[in-house]
Amino acid sequence: MALKKLFVANRGEIAVRIQRAARLLNIPTVQAYSEADSEMMAVKMADEAVCIGPARASDSYLNSAAVISAALASGADSIHPGYGFLSENPAFVRAVSDAGLIFVGPSAEVIERMGDKAAAREAATAANIPVVPGSPGRIETIEHALAIAKLLGYPVMVKAAAGGGGRGIRIAQDAPDLRSLIPQAQSEALSAFGDGGLYLEKFIRDPRHIEVQILADGARAVHCFERECSLQRRRQKVWEEAPATNLPAATRAALCEASVRLAESVSYKGAGTVEFIYDDADDRFYFIEMNTRIQVEHPITEAITGIDLVAAMIRIAGGEPLGLRQDEIRQTGHAIEVRINAEDPARNFMPFPGRISAVAFPAADGVRVDHFLHDGYAIQPFYDSLLAKIIAHGETRDATIEKLDAYLAMVRIDGVKHTIPLHQALCRDEMVRDGQVHTQWLETWLAQAPFAPVRSG
Ligand code: ADP
Ligand code: ADP
Ligand code: MG
Repeated sequence: MALKKLFVANRGEIAVRIQRAARLLNIPTVQAYSEADSEMMAVKMADEAVCIGPARASDSYLNSAAVISAALASGADSIHPGYGFLSENPAFVRAVSDAGLIFVGPSAEVIERMGDKAAAREAATAANIPVVPGSPGRIETIEHALAIAKLLGYPVMVKAAAGGGGRGIRIAQDAPDLRSLIPQAQSEALSAFGDGGLYLEKFIRDPRHIEVQILADGARAVHCFERECSLQRRRQKVWEEAPATNLPAATRAALCEASVRLAESVSYKGAGTVEFIYDDADDRFYFIEMNTRIQVEHPITEAITGIDLVAAMIRIAGGEPLGLRQDEIRQTGHAIEVRINAEDPARNFMPFPGRISAVAFPAADGVRVDHFLHDGYAIQPFYDSLLAKIIAHGETRDATIEKLDAYLAMVRIDGVKHTIPLHQALCRDEMVRDGQVHTQWLETWLAQAPFAPVRSG
């Protein structure tokens, strides 16, 4: 009962990635696009393409009714949401199935349970997985929050229950700080995510970010090992690796096992990621959230395991049971992904929309590039600034960094500022090479050394 026609409700590089998986599986595609995206690569690749509305995301890629009616009109039987936009929106998922369409991802109930970050902490606790010490559920009142924070000890993090993409997170240093921060955070969360719910977590100093890739068919789950995403700016990942560096084997096994247990405890179906923060000093990990969708950094897992995660999630959505046994999933070598954004790293990452005069990603052994660019492409200011992901795969971590550095010097993206110079500098940094970084490292590094781009050639 494979999918018959797949509607791709996303844009940019991930739309191209989904098209590629569908083609491999011989499933015809319909690509959705906004009025700003008619020239987009995924539109050209698709069997059919349909405009779903004006440039503003709220009028197109976030417009649930427009997406569903376009999918129905095209004769598609299924919708792939990619990441961001409507991918973790339970109301959308419910509307998709009410319309008789298949959603490529978990059920609305599972997304409700795991996509709400406060509820997911409860699900993790119920599955006996350590969570960051914090509020049991959402915080009800300021007094309630103050009482919990007093028990936790400052600083504490205030997080939006519906947050994502590094947004909706604040740090309170003391009680007066928390008191003034809560109403602000509440109204911001309401306008950004349509839900003002907040919860508290103890602020962990200098942790690493380690996450586990899951595949599941509703009955059974397997893990595809972990990724480390400790190089972050404003709580957004900029460089990701698989496997994690210097992680004790027993800890690694425990993380992977906990993630499988959590997925099975909610009868998870599809691809998902369980995120943890890991405290090196005392070798402890804490669940932070689950992302119930394909993630930006999935290619590094594909590189080390040889598994096509996007094809796997499409097949699961088509009703196929998980064909993989845990002991069949092996890993080879090391992989690193860097995110290339249209931002100027020398000017505090100012967004840099504009026209790309020329682009070249030469073919190279052990390097994969996921992108959607072509000569003359005009970067649209309405959306995320991610242009491309460069994924290097090598035998060892050192060899992979060397390969990545050598490749970055060959890439051309002319006409706009982008983050390649940052990644070149990171490739040559001693702390990065030694694997001595944590989630708060990059911001300090950027603040200390005025950013000096590495010149190639
Ligand atoms: P990943 O968790 O896959 O690394 P990110 O956290 O960088 O991905 O988010 C992937 C994309 O989804 C980004 O474009 C981000 O802005 C967007 N995103 C994530 N969560 C939300 C959300 N709740 N609302 C809107 N956009 C989101
Ligand atoms: P999002 O939903 O936006 O991805 P997460 O809850 O996954 O938010 O957190 C994003 C990042 O913020 C983490 O990868 C980590 O770097 C940092 N972070 C989250 N929770 C904590 C915490 N309790 N203490 C310290 N850092 C944290
Ligand atoms: Mg996260």
